Amino acid sequence: MSLNMSKERRMLVETLKIEGIIRSDLVEESFLSIPREYFVPEHLRVYAYSDTPLPIGYGQTISAPHMVAIMTEELRVKPGNIVLEIGTGSGYQAAILAHIVSKKSGGHVYTVERIPQLAKRAVINIANARPDLLDFITVVVGDGSKGIELFQPYDRIIVTAAAPQIPEPLIQQLKPGGIMVIPVGNKWEQILQVVIKNERGYISIKDSIACVFVPLIGQYGWRNEYDYT
Ligand code: SAM
Repeated sequence: MSLNMSKERRMLVETLKIEGIIRSDLVEESFLSIPREYFVPEHLRVYAYSDTPLPIGYGQTISAPHMVAIMTEELRVKPGNIVLEIGTGSGYQAAILAHIVSKKSGGHVYTVERIPQLAKRAVINIANARPDLLDFITVVVGDGSKGIELFQPYDRIIVTAAAPQIPEPLIQQLKPGGIMVIPVGNKWEQILQVVIKNERGYISIKDSIACVFVPLIGQYGWRNEYDYT
């Protein structure tokens, strides 16, 4: 498969910069280096650089580029960070993060997805788009609302599904000095919250923007799609 949508990609990045959404060189560089067209279903590739979420199957979505940019900027992810992502979906956000963390040794992205078919597809997407990043991304199938004990603590945690409240295990698994971004709210609307754990372990929470995500389903999320009110 050979695709070249680099012109469309550059135009989207320029727009997101003009809108003040992409603010840092690291996020700009990462957006320019990850081809979103490899993370959307083939019949939707023409829309890969529309600033909109797209369906990826199983009732799930790849988030809109502006939302990926906002979350990545709020996360203030640095080269060498250990990152946990909850909600792998297409693998696009994981690749954006991996490009940044891989710039310094020790950096890694652990990403967890509850739907096995999506997790498998995400690995294929990353392999097609940026095979060099496979060394820096571990895709796990499971309930990410519990975090992943095995690889904790994390410098950064990003939740890309809507939670009814901040799951306690994720707070526990965040390093002192760490940052988590998570959409919290009901079915119709959530607030993207930025959770900061200071060096002494105290938590402060800042509200970022209003957003709409698919539900986080699991022990510390919603029980199922119908529980999501
Ligand atoms: N970050 C993704 C991307 O770049 O394509 C988009 C994520 S999509 C908006 C939300 C994903 O969260 C869905 O794939 C959904 O299956 C997953 N999800 C929901 N609850 C989950 C849970 N408890 N653990 C892991 N994944 C979960």
